[in-house]
Amino acid sequence: MAAHGCKNLVFSSSATVYGWPKKVPCTEEFPLSAVNPYGRTKLFIEEICRDLRNSDSQWKIILLRYFNPVGAHPSGLIGEDPRGTPNNLMPFVQQVAVGRRQALTVFGKDYSTKDGTGVRDYIHVVDLADGHIAALKKLSDPKIGKGTSVLEMVTAFEKASGKKIPLQIAGRRPGDAEVVYASIKKAETELKWKAKYGIEEMCKDQWNWASKNPFGYGSLESKK
Ligand code: UDP
Repeated sequence: MAAHGCKNLVFSSSATVYGWPKKVPCTEEFPLSAVNPYGRTKLFIEEICRDLRNSDSQWKIILLRYFNPVGAHPSGLIGEDPRGTPNNLMPFVQQVAVGRRQALTVFGKDYSTKDGTGVRDYIHVVDLADGHIAALKKLSDPKIGKGTSVLEMVTAFEKASGKKIPLQIAGRRPGDAEVVYASIKKAETELKWKAKYGIEEMCKDQWNWASKNPFGYGSLESKK
């Protein structure tokens, strides 16, 4: 990923990294442990991700600890199709319902829960997918609210246009502020609005307009 310039990662971890939690609900601060080989793979990869981030701060990684995804896409065209005997509860229930299996085995009815059977936190797969999109959005750089210098703008425009912009460095323009940029928090929380386009897209579209209309709305004659 680093070789291809991609240092953003969403990792599908699992609630199994909480082992047998001493209390519920689980929070992210709970101690982590592995209680089976599957959980150990999740825990080790989480550790690798943490080490990677500590060794190179350009990496931005979100670890999502799934609980129990259930359901299917509402179209009915995409769903879970486990090979062999399903390990998980609901794929097994589904196969009993369609007549592929005789009966569901309930593993334990003597837990100190409401009905004696194990309790989990089930989540619809579509909500899980939405959670991933939210995580990806969180990883992407804020498009505004960060400040870009004159030279950075010029370089970005040169890149988008393929044109060299000759520079003449002069003294400060009277009345100019040194640094001005916005806080984007209020717009995000109150309007649920976020800029979609960054400097690259700004320059690309501006050059698209400029190259198609080098003299703006008029002709070269009218600009003389
Ligand atoms: N379970 C069950 N019969 C099955 C599969 C699972 O009674 O055929 C129970 C299991 O003991 C647990 C719950 O269903 O209490 C969820 O199990 P699953 O394997 O789906 O999720 P996990 O235990 O990994 O959270």
